[in-house]
Amino acid sequence: MTDEQNHNTQYDVIIVGGGPAGLCAAMYSGRGMLNTLLIERGLPGGELLNTELIEDYPGFESILGRELAEKMASHAVKFGASIVTDTVDSIEKTDAGDFEIKTQLGKTYRAATVIITAGGSPNKLGVPGEQEYAGRGVSYCAVCDGAFFKNEMLAVIGGGDAAVEEAMYLTRYASKVYLIHRRDQLRASKILQERLFANPKIEVIWNKVVEEIEGGPKGVTSVRLKDTLTDEENHVDVGGVFIFIGFTPNSGIIKGHFDHDPSGYIVTDSHMMTSIPGLFAAGDLRVQLTRQITTAVGDATTAAIAVEKYLTDHKAGAKETVGSA
Ligand code: NAP
Repeated sequence: MTDEQNHNTQYDVIIVGGGPAGLCAAMYSGRGMLNTLLIERGLPGGELLNTELIEDYPGFESILGRELAEKMASHAVKFGASIVTDTVDSIEKTDAGDFEIKTQLGKTYRAATVIITAGGSPNKLGVPGEQEYAGRGVSYCAVCDGAFFKNEMLAVIGGGDAAVEEAMYLTRYASKVYLIHRRDQLRASKILQERLFANPKIEVIWNKVVEEIEGGPKGVTSVRLKDTLTDEENHVDVGGVFIFIGFTPNSGIIKGHFDHDPSGYIVTDSHMMTSIPGLFAAGDLRVQLTRQITTAVGDATTAAIAVEKYLTDHKAGAKETVGSA
C-alpha cells in the first residue's frame, strides 16, 4: 500500500508504536483480518534495539535484540499489517466516535480503534553537565554507545534491572564500571545482582547521588557525588556516564482525559481498554507490576483480541439501532 493510500484509509485499528507490544498487536490484528496500520517513529523493535542479548523470551535461550525485532516485524507484515515510519503527535477521539491520529509529517490517519504501545523515554537526572555532555560522554543506551568507551572507566547510574544489565554489558569495553546507586540495596532482580557482584570489573558505590557531571572540551571527565547519609562529597574520574533511572511513559500524545497514575502510566481494564472507549494500551506505558517483553506481548495479545470483540459488538449495536429506527 502506498503512503497516500495509508493516509486516506479508514482503518479498523491503528497501533501507535512498534516495540514488542506494537508488533505483537499488529500480528494478531492482521491475523484477525482487521485492516491494520502500525505507526513507528524509528525502526520497528523499540527497546529490543537497545538490548544486545535477550535471554528471557521463552523459546529463545539467547537471541540478539535486533534479530528478535526483525522476526517480530516480518511476522506482523506477513499477516497483513502495514507499517509506516512517522512520529505521532496526537491521538484524539472524534465526535463521530472514531479516532484521528496526527503525525509530525503532517498526516492525519483515522481508525475505529487505537492500540497505544508507545513505551517511554529515559528519565533524566536533571543535574548540571547532563545536558551539556549528552552525546559527549552522557548516554542512555549502552548498546548504542558502549563501543565508544574502550578501556575507559565508566559510571552507570541506577539500581534497577536496566542499570545492572547495562553495567555488565559495558564491561566488555570499559576497563572498569562503577555502578552508582542512591541506596544500600539494589532494586534489580536477584539473578542479575548475583551476576553483577561476580563481575570483577564492576564496583558498586552505595548511598551516593550524582550532583554534577564534570568535563572539558573532549567530554566527560568525572562525576561529583554526594553521600546520602553523610552529605560528604567526592569526585570519581570517568570518561562516560550511562544513566538508567527508569523512564516516563509516552502517554502525553493522548488528547482528552484518560485515567492514569501520578507518573502518567495508563490505567486499563482487563481487556487493555483505557477509560476512553475504543482506545487500548499495551506494554511499558501501562500501569503494571513489571515491564518485560513477555508482559508487553501478553498485553498486546489481549488488546488485539479485545479490539476484534469491540468492533464486532459495535457493528452489532449499530445494526440494532438502524433496525429499531
Ligand atoms: P526501575 O526498575 O524503575 O529502576 C530505576 C532505578 O533508578 C532504581 O534503582 C531507582 O532507585 C533509581 N533512580 C530513580 N530515580 C533516580 C534518581 N533521580 N537518581 C538516582 N537514582 C534514581 O527502572 P529500570 O531499571 O529502567 O526498569 C524498568 C522496568 O523494566 C522494570 O520493570 C524492570 O524489571 C524492567 N527491565 C527488565 C529487564 C530484564 O528483565 N532483563 C531489563 C531492563 C528492564 P531506587 O531503587 O532507590 O528507587
